[in-house]
Amino acid sequence: MSDEFDVIVIGGGPAGYPAALRAAQLGLSVACIDDWKNTDGSQSFGGTCLNAGCIPSKALLESSEWYHRAQHEFAAHGITLTGASFDLAQMQKRKNTIVKTSTQGILGLFKAAKVTPLPGHGRLLAAHRVEYTPADGAKRLLTGKAIVLASGSVPMALPSVPFDGGRVLDSWGALDMTEVPKRLGVIGAGVIGLELGSVWRRLGSEVVVLEALDGFLPMADQQVAQEARKQLSKQGLDIRLSAKVTGAEVSSAGVNLAYTDATGSHTLSVDRVVVAIGRRARTEGLLADNTGVVVNARGVIEVDAQCRTAVPTVYAVGDCVRGPMLAHKAKEEGVMVAELIAGHYGAVDYANVPSVIYTTPEIAWVGLTEEQVKASGRAYKVGVFPFMASGRARAMEAGSGFSKVIAAVDDDALLGVHVIGPMAGELIAEAVMAMSYSASTEDLQRIMHAHPTLSEGLHEAALAADKRAIDYPNR
Ligand code: FAD
Ligand code: NAD
Repeated sequence: MSDEFDVIVIGGGPAGYPAALRAAQLGLSVACIDDWKNTDGSQSFGGTCLNAGCIPSKALLESSEWYHRAQHEFAAHGITLTGASFDLAQMQKRKNTIVKTSTQGILGLFKAAKVTPLPGHGRLLAAHRVEYTPADGAKRLLTGKAIVLASGSVPMALPSVPFDGGRVLDSWGALDMTEVPKRLGVIGAGVIGLELGSVWRRLGSEVVVLEALDGFLPMADQQVAQEARKQLSKQGLDIRLSAKVTGAEVSSAGVNLAYTDATGSHTLSVDRVVVAIGRRARTEGLLADNTGVVVNARGVIEVDAQCRTAVPTVYAVGDCVRGPMLAHKAKEEGVMVAELIAGHYGAVDYANVPSVIYTTPEIAWVGLTEEQVKASGRAYKVGVFPFMASGRARAMEAGSGFSKVIAAVDDDALLGVHVIGPMAGELIAEAVMAMSYSASTEDLQRIMHAHPTLSEGLHEAALAADKRAIDYPNR
């Protein structure tokens, strides 16, 4: 095998593998190095997202949601089910099969596109040189005309509650539990805390979420955040804000978490704890000294808007660079740099990155929150349409939540769209499209939406922004 490539990609997650595939599509010779290690010691491509993130979490969210519906919603449909129970081993088996199919799919794509997969560790030595160390330890020197760094991220640790793989888990451990803990503590009411907290709550755990901040989902529109907190609390997620964890006592019986809040000091006794306080870029072992690539004080690789590092032939994409740690953002960056390397045009529209939280109800948004628009001083109008006024949502027994459109008064531009409700993650795609094409509120108002669909809610919210909603009283 040649040790010379047009492009060497280090990291085979949602940033790296699309970069490799797109570069190969454009006629370049490409190798992709990845050192992901599964719990059985095997390697698989796909990074955090496919192996231990987006895909396994959504598999468990789906299974636990079905169980929840069987218990709590079938009766409303007139379906009688007695003695509903679940088999966690089967749920985990299903999840693991989905992960395996997904990760092996990447190898299939690599084969079809003639990308050379290199399982093992990669280290950038200089502008064009990479040291590759496979599992047998026999190092090889590779050269690439261009190098793409796509090393991703790892969970942040909380020094006062260190991960132990048993009682104190990271998000991967939380996805792999083989029994339902009676009492589960979650540190961090962010995306992972709420998604995985929901999974185990639906399966019967008493879940307490400790969040250090005094606000809930501060990055989301606060009208949405308020509704989310109400709905999640109704489901039994005990979310405690301003809770600062100060220590943990781990024993064979469980974990005693010490925390303080505005009312004083408390102890929370749980069987297991999931620490989900954010992730950090992974750059350890990635760069030799003096490569010229700049890593900032937070360990993030410095890049420009087109993901170029300080070294002209070296790019960096995905979670290891600035911006939201999202798989779709990572993928667009990977594709962009492949196109740039091949001499084509490439750009990412960072203003219109959708965010989705896969709780029930789902939460999704694109653009600015009402708080951000207010702070900008620009005159704005808001249209809200609740799902309880949607015939389709009612037919689905999914009438909670709403769609919200925020638009500028002066030129009618869409500034932000927020949905909390059924299939919000799918519905937001229309808003992303509209905003990407600089559509106005009137454009959205004039587009015909099929009836009865959930997407009518977005249409009606756009109409409501001008007090012309048809299916709900205008305010
Ligand atoms: P990663 O996916 O972390 O991949 C990096 C890869 O590079 C890894 O395989 C790593 O082993 C390898 N690597 C690192 N350094 C080296 C080296 N020196 N040599 C060789 N290989 C190396 N995002 C969403 O958009 N939607 C979701 O629903 C979602 N759900 C999530 C759920 C959970 C529980 C978690 C933890 C994350 C979730 N995310 C989600 C975030 C998403 O997983 C990340 O944003 C995404 O995986 C980032 O892709 P990446 O390629 O930059 O990094
Ligand atoms: P996050 O940033 O979403 O949330 C972390 C939360 O922990 C924050 O609310 C923060 O205030 C809190 N926190 C921080 N330190 C704390 C402490 N000491 N005690 C208590 N609370 C503390 O991070 P995450 O949930 O770990 O997720 C990591 C990344 O993975 C996110 O950037 C997210 O974008 C990505 N992700 C995305 C999805 C999705 O797109 N659906 C799903 C899961 C993860």
